Amino acid sequence: MSPTNPPKSVPLADILPDEPMLLMGAGPVPLPPAVARANSVVINHLGKTMDKVIANVKDMARYAFQTKADKIIGISGPSSAGMEMAIANLVWPGRRVLVLEIGTFSKRFGEMAEAVGGEVEYLSANECQPITLDQVKKEMQGKQFDVVTTVQGETSCGVLNTELEEITKYAKSRGALVIVDGVCTLTTMPLQMDDWDIDVVITGGQKGLSTIPGVSMVAFSDDAWAAIEHRTKKKYHWVLDAERAQRFWGHQEYHYTAPVPGILALHEALRLICEETLAKRFQRHRQSSQALQAGIESMGLKLFIPKKHRLNSVVAIELSKGVDCTKVREHMADNFGVEIAGAFGLDIIRIGQMGEQCRGDNLLKTLHALGASAKHAGANVDVSSGMAALEKKLEEANL
Ligand SMILES: *Cc1c(COP(=O)(O)O)cnc(C)c1O
Repeated sequence: MSPTNPPKSVPLADILPDEPMLLMGAGPVPLPPAVARANSVVINHLGKTMDKVIANVKDMARYAFQTKADKIIGISGPSSAGMEMAIANLVWPGRRVLVLEIGTFSKRFGEMAEAVGGEVEYLSANECQPITLDQVKKEMQGKQFDVVTTVQGETSCGVLNTELEEITKYAKSRGALVIVDGVCTLTTMPLQMDDWDIDVVITGGQKGLSTIPGVSMVAFSDDAWAAIEHRTKKKYHWVLDAERAQRFWGHQEYHYTAPVPGILALHEALRLICEETLAKRFQRHRQSSQALQAGIESMGLKLFIPKKHRLNSVVAIELSKGVDCTKVREHMADNFGVEIAGAFGLDIIRIGQMGEQCRGDNLLKTLHALGASAKHAGANVDVSSGMAALEKKLEEANL
């Protein structure tokens, strides 16, 4: 039976905490004020003002992606929609796809490629390890792939794909189109789309770019675009059809109503990146993450991934046996207003180091909340020693 009376309504203010939570998980991340302001504005999605915004977004994105690519497309959708745009346009029945799988996100490309009829092979990393060039060479020996997919940073377990550049160059030299998920890493560490022979790079808003979730970007190389143009098999997608999307992103024509506030927010996020410069932004992220890691270790907690392939953008921590990860996270949120992430299936907690998360005050608040909460849950930690190590590193780096 359909409801006859309206449900009891509750103002949002009664649901949200009085003081916003500090978002220190694996995304979404805190918004810089200019980004938050832009996100509250709606203008017409077509017309001269929007044309100027889109032209700027594309120019600034080329710097962020380190590419001269003409085809830069924004998507009203999660980063996964960006991944799906790449796959849905470049994979069709009979196309051979090699998926380099390190964890949840890199595997997602394979699920998407199977769904559109691709012939998918997986090269899986040993547990929580990057994939090496040698493994890729062995896998590709005597075989031809149309598409190879990989990730720069596997957020789910905190692993950096250390040989990414060598792998993308090799895969390209073997005739494949190379798709890279740069969602958590783009603008937090070097990712050179053109110099590394990458055909498609995907990023989302709520991670490295430090803007809102739900607006994502994909850059296509000329080779990737040629493959899309020469495709003869029918496309299964309409919203994610790259050629239709290019009508708006290339020719200021209607495709669907663009997520206007999200694009204005993206404009401001990219502007802040350009003003900071990539070199300084990479340094801030590296120093911030290393300071946090030093604090965690000095406290007596264990970092889950060995230093040589540890991802700086998302730091995974293994608590001692008997210390409940969920309880620690809940205690941090309830008592200190700091939210961090758990993990899919693994018994670890994860702290994000993307965009605004890499600020001294946020680090101090987060590490203190972590230490006090871990202690409360029964972990043997020396909170002051951790705070001292963090403080020292922050001072050295001037963060
Ligand atoms: C978060 C993340 C995704 C998925 O992002 P959504 O916006 O949730 O779709 C994909 N890849 C990586 C590496 C990520 O960190």
